[in-house]
Amino acid sequence: MTELPPDEKLSRIFRAMSTPARLRILAAIGNGEACVCHLEALLDLRQAYISQQLMEMRDADLVDTRRDGRYIFYRLTEPRLLSTLTEIGQLYGTPAEEIEALLHTDPLPQCCCPDCIDQLNPRLIPPKKLSANK
Ligand SMILES: [Zn+2]
Repeated sequence: MTELPPDEKLSRIFRAMSTPARLRILAAIGNGEACVCHLEALLDLRQAYISQQLMEMRDADLVDTRRDGRYIFYRLTEPRLLSTLTEIGQLYGTPAEEIEALLHTDPLPQCCCPDCIDQLNPRLIPPKKLSANK
């Protein structure tokens, strides 16, 4: 992709984060990574809707992706944006406690991602992993 002039880059990034739902999605990704099923469980939004928001934010270079098997993990392209976007979210309608909750989540029982499954069920790690040590 060709490098955009700074003013276009700036307006594109701000446009891409400019709905309450997207600000919540970005806060939920936080400084780590999250897959769509994690965001779906956390935010109570439909998966198709979340995927579409993520796609458009990726087109604007706001988020980046990493594929791991059948999972795609999303992360912020620029982690330093997190404090800015949580402040904007709080200013425009998302209560501070909700943002705080999105930023610090425990593993989610409804989630299908490897992180949540491993943390919630450490003894249910697939048998092939265990037998590989023998
Ligand atoms: Zn998860």
